[in-house]
Amino acid sequence: MKSNNVKENKYKNLCCPKCKSKLVKKNGRRKTENRGLIQRYQCEKCNYRFTYDDGFFRMRNNPKKITCAIDLFYRGTSTRKVQEHFQSFYPHNSHNSTIYRWIIKYSSMISSYTDSLKLKVGKEIQVDEMEYHRRQEHKKKGVVKDWFIDSIDCQTRYMVASKYAKKREKIELKEVLAKVKYKTEGYVTTITTDGYTAYENVVKKTWGYNNKQGKYKIAHNKVIASRGEGFNLFIERLHNSIRERTKIFRGFHGTIESAHAIMKGYGVFYNFIRKHQAINCCPYELATNIKLKESNKWLELIWLSRLQNY
Ligand SMILES: [Zn+2]
Repeated sequence: MKSNNVKENKYKNLCCPKCKSKLVKKNGRRKTENRGLIQRYQCEKCNYRFTYDDGFFRMRNNPKKITCAIDLFYRGTSTRKVQEHFQSFYPHNSHNSTIYRWIIKYSSMISSYTDSLKLKVGKEIQVDEMEYHRRQEHKKKGVVKDWFIDSIDCQTRYMVASKYAKKREKIELKEVLAKVKYKTEGYVTTITTDGYTAYENVVKKTWGYNNKQGKYKIAHNKVIASRGEGFNLFIERLHNSIRERTKIFRGFHGTIESAHAIMKGYGVFYNFIRKHQAINCCPYELATNIKLKESNKWLELIWLSRLQNY
């Protein structure tokens, strides 16, 4: 019964893809190969008939198998091992490169939704970068050095904004900090970084200057570990978690875009899926208004991200 309720909720914001009218009625079902019968709808205004794309339109495999693969991957199983595991349980064998594509597709889908959320956070955000290696394929072979730039709210432990990039210069830092500002507006008063000089102007410029008060709208707290001022504890712990989970990636293979999508998916896993030991719940429960009801949270997040389009 519980899952039925959620399915009803899933359709409550449904509107006609053609004329955007909310007056839509059920109109029979369409048989599909892998997803069984799918509800068809008709617009009462313009008579347009449509099915609701729950994110798995034209996918050969069912949502449960796909989200299971994504979950196993972010819990530390390689795509090759996921493939081997599925071989014993599902008649259709999915190649590990297919599984890799699912992870990229749905990580991008969910994170474009979660990245639009405004957050309720504490006063301090810590920002840092870590170095990564990416194995290039196709034309340019060899290993390149990249950067993962990330940020965390010290209170809710929510990973606020991140970017996987070729460089960590002002332009990349600015992109991450602009997202931090947008998502945490009204809450944050301090940005903590290490001594890396590129942060200096970018932090000030992103938040701007308050002429009335005669000071910058944000405090920039620079912690220089070599001076014995201690580490930025929360971001350091986040980096340890990331390293622990992503070591099985054995370096990323492929394009910078796919590496970025994989890391975006890790952000979803970190904020929404895994329980954070220090707060005894998931960061999203403290930082957002979202209430996830399903046991398969990946699937529910995919539904939610699809609803954005209507
Ligand atoms: Zn219509």
